[in-house]
Amino acid sequence: MKTAVIYARYSSERQTEQSIEGQLRVCHEFAERNDLKIIDTYIDRAMTGTNDNRAAFQKMLSDSDKPQPWEIVLVYALDRFGRNSIEVAVNKQRLQKNGKILISATQRTSVNIDGTQNLDGIILENVLIGLSEYYSAELSQKIRRGQNESRLKGNFAGGKVPYGYTTANKKIIVNEERAEIVRWMYQSYSTGKIVREIIEELTARGVTHMGKPFKANTIYKILRLEKYIGIYRHGDEVFTNIYPQIVPTELFNRVQTMLAKNKLGSSSREVAFLLKKKVICGICGKPINGESGTSQNGTTMYYYKCSNRKKHHSCSKESIRKADLEEMVLNTTLMLLNKPENLSAIAEEVIEVHRKRAREQAVLALLRDERSKAQKALNNLMKALEAGIFTATTKDRITELELQIDELNGRILSEECKEANLLTKEDVEMFLLDALKAEPQLLIDTLIDKIILFDDEVEIFYKYSQNNNPDDLTKEIRRDFCLPWGKRIAVTDRHIIYAADLGT
Ligand SMILES: [Zn+2]
Repeated sequence: MKTAVIYARYSSERQTEQSIEGQLRVCHEFAERNDLKIIDTYIDRAMTGTNDNRAAFQKMLSDSDKPQPWEIVLVYALDRFGRNSIEVAVNKQRLQKNGKILISATQRTSVNIDGTQNLDGIILENVLIGLSEYYSAELSQKIRRGQNESRLKGNFAGGKVPYGYTTANKKIIVNEERAEIVRWMYQSYSTGKIVREIIEELTARGVTHMGKPFKANTIYKILRLEKYIGIYRHGDEVFTNIYPQIVPTELFNRVQTMLAKNKLGSSSREVAFLLKKKVICGICGKPINGESGTSQNGTTMYYYKCSNRKKHHSCSKESIRKADLEEMVLNTTLMLLNKPENLSAIAEEVIEVHRKRAREQAVLALLRDERSKAQKALNNLMKALEAGIFTATTKDRITELELQIDELNGRILSEECKEANLLTKEDVEMFLLDALKAEPQLLIDTLIDKIILFDDEVEIFYKYSQNNNPDDLTKEIRRDFCLPWGKRIAVTDRHIIYAADLGT
């Protein structure tokens, strides 16, 4: 059994903050599920404004410098570990140096509990810089602190108990056998199985609901039930202490994205325009935005329209139906990814860009900056020493600075090594194929730089090109790719350009 400590932090300035109790509960549940023994907790409570000393956090870090009976620091979310991604990385690095592992109870991390590296985690942390912050922001939005948490002791207030749970002593507890089935449903749906297939497979396995095969509606309800990630809403209040979480948050969120996508164009009120801020009018050069309108028979229509035409009627660009454009862009991009030589070319460019980015990366820059500051301080002290200015503390300070520089050199070196073998092409290819396919928005955000839309043609500019000047377009064709319907696609020095006929 692995041993761990929990670090929890609550800052009152953040309205969407999960309470300390909520964080601890989620961490303890995670520990139980993963066979972790919690032997201590470090808690920073109620800090206000910038007066952010994080005494417990500092103590935990300095404890980690010495031999400890624990191997893992468990946090509710990675953002507990610093006020920004740089701090998180630096602090995580310190733990790693001390042979300790940082694990989040709600987010995938680059290292697993057993110390092995988690490819998905590494890629999420490194390839998609910034996206993990996107996820945690979304997460904190969802988990609003239940105002009544202290009053309500987590008791079940009555009503229908959802599938996967049961009750004991006024508390909701997990029905493990059914919880396993719930997780299986989420997994299956997230990997592309449709609800009908899920029902068929369950029925074949003899898994039924109240003696009958599951109904599609029941499955949809299960796939949308927030209680499975431990969230219960009552009016405006949110309680996280009533339902134990049985579906990983990341999986739940992924399924919600897919569900939302699958019902686009139906009754969904909040329609996601996947190509938001990416499309430019080929005729006048102004942005093309998502719009909606009501047709004569009363149904809502969604389309992309030139902003210039909308405001000043001074552009002749026709609007295009949202579904048509998005489908074309997604299909084209997936088709691109599906061709091994394309996948390989994109993966190489992704690697190149991210190596470059990693080299300039903030962590390394921060460490080097720290080192140069320490070096400067040391130089000044040496000068003072030469000038005969000497106090009792001078020598201590010099030794301290020398040690600090030594340590920084080590960390810089390890950071540089890490960068050198950060990602393999296979990692990136796998990521491009699996993770991106499941999430159209991620696919678009990750790969597409911009889209220029004409009435009869669309040009998709993909990210990841060695040359970073997007305005200087040369269409010199280096390689030709042939798509099934025989359209032209070319990789230029700068971009992969796909020209598609929009006439239907
Ligand atoms: Zn226009």
